[in-house]
Order: sequence, then structure tokens, then C-alpha cells
Amino acid sequence: MKTPVPDYLQHVLSACDANQKGQLANYIPELAQANPNRLALALATIDGTIYAAGDADVEFTIQSMSKPFAYALAIQTHGLQAVLEKVGVEPSGEAFNQISLDAEHAIPKNPMINSGAITTHSLLPYKKTVSRAEHLRRFLSELAGRELKFDEQVYASEVATAFRNRSIGYMLRTVGVLDQDPEDIVDGYIRQCAILVTVKDLARIASVFANGGVDARTGKRVLERSIVRQVLSVMMSCGMYDAAGDWLTSVGIPAKSGVAGGILGILPAQVGIAVFSPKLDTHGNSVRGVEIFERLSQDMGLHLMEGTPSAQTIVQSRYVVGECIVYELRGVLQFTESEMLLRILQDEAKGKAPILLDLTHLTLIHDVGARMLFEGVKRLKEDGHVLKVVDTERILSDVQIKGHKRCVVDQPLAQVLASYTASP
Ligand code: GLU
Repeated sequence: MKTPVPDYLQHVLSACDANQKGQLANYIPELAQANPNRLALALATIDGTIYAAGDADVEFTIQSMSKPFAYALAIQTHGLQAVLEKVGVEPSGEAFNQISLDAEHAIPKNPMINSGAITTHSLLPYKKTVSRAEHLRRFLSELAGRELKFDEQVYASEVATAFRNRSIGYMLRTVGVLDQDPEDIVDGYIRQCAILVTVKDLARIASVFANGGVDARTGKRVLERSIVRQVLSVMMSCGMYDAAGDWLTSVGIPAKSGVAGGILGILPAQVGIAVFSPKLDTHGNSVRGVEIFERLSQDMGLHLMEGTPSAQTIVQSRYVVGECIVYELRGVLQFTESEMLLRILQDEAKGKAPILLDLTHLTLIHDVGARMLFEGVKRLKEDGHVLKVVDTERILSDVQIKGHKRCVVDQPLAQVLASYTASP
């Protein structure tokens, strides 16, 4: 059997192929030369599997889709607080290249519009020998799993015509948000926008964010979970230019678009998605890209606000072996499931019977899940029970176990049971 996922992606592309609406970005001369018929789609799961259709190996410039990643790298470099002092997190409702500042704080409203992105660029790591744009290129190459390049032609073409971005740079320098030479920073920002990617690269990069900052292929944590959360939140509220509200309601996936025609979406704990089709709508978003995302979101139930229904079966089974009571847990232990588990455990009568909580079939324990689990353990002990948490797969992290080591065992359940039921 062959998985139908690639066929489905092809089907979505074919359905949108006929839509010829929109215009090529013409304020960057080189982009006005793009082939308007290009159409590509890629989807990467959080375990790193990539499905693609159409012109999935065609490179195009990342443009504004570099902004969330520059934001992530700036936070990683300086910490969130320092970045927040320079760039806010409020949707602007204005065009992406508006020459404006937040009225109250006199800083750019958010990092997804140009004023915020130029400021964010100034916060990227920098060495005399390694430019800020080069740092970002290396960071994205690591996430994409291949060496990405700059498109020197697009870069030169934009530099030659970047009057508006220079005005923004000088405005930022005037008010003191930038303290370096605005020419240098704007030049670097334009270079950052000229990194070449394919939809496969973007989907892969997006999937690392969807996976909470861990690259599933290498097992390496590339970004702290809190940074990923910050970036996705800002993408959700500000990522689609002044069409953010439309996007949130109709697609509901944190996303960022770029004027070369790319849109990248990150659905936490599920997938990274990228599309490419160069003709843009009046907001600057790819026309067919938006249509494809709307279809995917609807067909595959990807809208963030649909939420994930909690596993109703956190307790897979409860049974008694000898004098031991075994609770076999299954699924993901977050707040909702933990609440359910504790509600079930509260029906356990007081007594001395050993209770074994078997975590072998859990796939993930969120920190709140671990805290609530151990609180339940404590309360059952106070009722007189002997408690063991059976963590054969070592799903609990060291931090989660801290202070509770004595009640956690990592032998298989059968062995733990045998130790209780063996006759003296
Ligand atoms: N380099 C482009 C600019 O700053 C990126 C804009 C975009 O993709 O929205 O104008």
C-alpha cells in the first residue's frame, strides 16, 4: 500500500491551478521577472517526514518568511525581555512597509512588519567576520538540513530600489530604536530576505517549530520551547500582514508569507506546511497560497481553534492482580487528562493496597501532567496506599521526577507486580 498523502497534496494543487488572479511583486524588479505559473506545496510531519507536490524543488527567496526565524534567533541571543524593549507584539493592522511606530512606546509594533523586522535584524548575532544575515543563513541551513544560499541578483535588485526600507531604517535611527548605521542594517535585512529556499526546506524548518523546537531527525533541541511559543504567537496575530484577522478565522494556522509568493504555516504538535505561488493579492499574500491553506485547513481539520479533543481514555484500564491495583494510562498527559485521572483516582477507597500507575503507554507528559500525577500520588499515600509509578519507557524527564524519585520505577510492569505478588 502507498500512503495517499502525496496524492491528496497533488489533488489540492490541481484544484487551485486554474486560479490566475493576483499580481507579481513589482516593487523589487527581479521578483517581477518570476515565473507566475510556479506552484508548489510541501508538508512535513513533526517526526521529519516530508510530502511534496508540484515545483517542490524550485528555489525562491524567503523574503518576509525570514522574519519569524530572525525573531527566534534574536530572542535566543539576547533573551525575550531585551527584544521586547525594542520591538512590540501588537498587530499593526497596517501595510507591511508602513513607516510607523507604536504611539505609546515609540518602538515598532511587531517583528513581522518591516520596521520591526529591520530592528530585529539589528539584534541578530554579529561578528566582524560573520554578518547578521550570514548568522541567520547558517541557522536556517541547520534547520533545513542543507546549506542554503543567498540569491545575489534578488538582493542587488532590492538594494538598488529599497528607498522605503531605508526611510524606515533612518526613522528608526532618528528615534533611537536603532543605534547602528541604518544603511548597514537595512542592507543586512535585505540580504536576510534573499536567502533561497524551496517549499521542502520551509516545511522542514516549520516542522522543527511545530515539534516545540526539537529537530526530530537529529534529536537536537534547536530552540527553547518558550521561544517557539513566542514566535508562533506573534505569527498568529501579525504574520499575514493586514489580513491577519481573515487568516485567523478562515485558516487558523500560525503563518508568515513573503512577497516572492511563499507562505509557511506551523501547526503546533502537528505539521509544518509551505506553499509557493508568486502572484499576490492586495495584502501581499500569495493568492493560490491562501487558497491552498484554506483547503488544507478545512479538509484536514487543522484550524488551531478546533483544538485537539482530549483523549477520553487516559485510564486505559484498571485491574487488580493479587493485592495490587494497576492503572494503565494511555495517550498524552496534559491538564485535561490529568484532571480526569485525578477525578478517577479520587474514587479509590482508602486502604493499604499497592497502587501501580503504569506510564508505559503514555506518549507524552506535559510538566503540568507530571505535577498533577505526583500530587495524586501524594494524596493516595496519605490515604494509606503504597504507590509506584511504573515508567519503563522513561517518559518522565529528570526535572519532572525531581523530588519523587523514590516512587518511580523503571522495570517492566510484570516485574514490579512480581515483586509484590511473590510468595515469601
Ligand atoms: N524584502 C521585502 C521587503 O522588505 C520583504 C517583504 C515581504 O516579503 O513582505 O520589502
